[in-house]
Amino acid sequence: MPGIAAPRGTRDLLPAAVPAWEWLHDVHARVTGSFGYQLVDTPIFEHAELIERGVGTGTDVVDKETYTFTDRGGRLITLRPEGTAGVLRAVLTANLVQEIRPVRVRYAGPMFRYDRPQAGRFRQFAQVGVECIGERSPHLDAEVMEMGWRFIAALGVSGVALQVNSLGDLDDRQRYRAALIAYYEPLQDQLCDDCRVRLHVNPLRLLDCKRDQRFVAAAPVITDSLSPESRAYFDTVLDDLRAAAIPFEPNPRLVRGLDYYMHTSFEFWHESLKGAQNALGGGGRYDGLAEVLGYPATPGIGYAMGTERLLIAASDAGSAPGAEPACDAVVAAVEPPQAQAAAAAARTLRAAGVRAVLDVSDRKIDRKLRFADRLGARVCVLIGPDEVAEQGATVRDMGNRQQQRVPLTRLAAAVAEALANQEVTPA
Ligand code: AMP
Repeated sequence: MPGIAAPRGTRDLLPAAVPAWEWLHDVHARVTGSFGYQLVDTPIFEHAELIERGVGTGTDVVDKETYTFTDRGGRLITLRPEGTAGVLRAVLTANLVQEIRPVRVRYAGPMFRYDRPQAGRFRQFAQVGVECIGERSPHLDAEVMEMGWRFIAALGVSGVALQVNSLGDLDDRQRYRAALIAYYEPLQDQLCDDCRVRLHVNPLRLLDCKRDQRFVAAAPVITDSLSPESRAYFDTVLDDLRAAAIPFEPNPRLVRGLDYYMHTSFEFWHESLKGAQNALGGGGRYDGLAEVLGYPATPGIGYAMGTERLLIAASDAGSAPGAEPACDAVVAAVEPPQAQAAAAAARTLRAAGVRAVLDVSDRKIDRKLRFADRLGARVCVLIGPDEVAEQGATVRDMGNRQQQRVPLTRLAAAVAEALANQEVTPA
């Protein structure tokens, strides 16, 4: 019988990839921390209603991609497909905005979407993100974009284009919807079945339709529907980006179909990621979301970036760290009777901060040395009958293969010296 495989669209994070994974999260914590953003961690499942209202019925994510199930208590539960709804819920239920406005938080963790798996697209994937909740100001929009930009730059990833748009406010969008309907109505017969339905429900979604792309170029742009106030807000955002020396590309086609998105909307595109998968991340202002979730109106803006996609880009750029050795030293009992003495020596080393793997197998000594090599150990400590009799240990430098017998009282110091020697020796 073949072994049970992992579910489609999932991946395992194996030890060799962990240093890059941890590095990315450290960089995100450092960059966002330098802007005063603190970590929040929310459940990976929420009431289905939160996701439905938060992400929006009528979106592909909610209509086709959620993992939703009834739990044993009869509650309808959804595995989170994104982080914003949960983070906003957490911040608002804890009344954090009562004390501090805006609340600046970051998050990291797995998200779940029943997507069609392909390169850079999974059913369980991870995101890192930020939310700035409680205030509407164009300066905050610029701050969030600058932070995302600096984060990507700190990962050593270049070839990124920051695409920025303004969706205006509800009135602006009403005007834009009317302009879109006026444009598409005469074309109705040529639209796909979905778009013919969407036209009067949510005409903004026609701009995303893959089948009807040929009509998009000549369609009206939202920029032309913005009120002078919304225009001024957007101009301040763009001015701030210029002042921060963050390059950007205005993209009037970057729209989101949901009413609670307002003003700034943005994406980070990467040249090497192809087609629909070229976005490393994106975000925007969601001033209407809190009310949709049943909370008092509270403005907010944030971004979310795909961890796997960022790592692909960082690894192509050569900036992501590679696999690391499991240990500094292997402590090997030469023969089984020295197992406890070897274990005691390993304990001494660990107490001194050395990562020590114990080898009490019955392999021959040359096989033990090969094992130590394969683990990437820079030192091997051998404990045989003579060493036990003398209360000592043999310390072997795996780099130059020199070994010396030392008393156990000097073991930690001798291993530390051997490790330090190798640090200055070029590989
Ligand atoms: P979104 O929440 O759809 O704006 O996605 C934000 C970012 O998350 C995207 O730009 C991707 O980097 C990443 N992402 C979204 N969906 C997936 C997926 N199915 N697999 C891998 N990454 C994803």
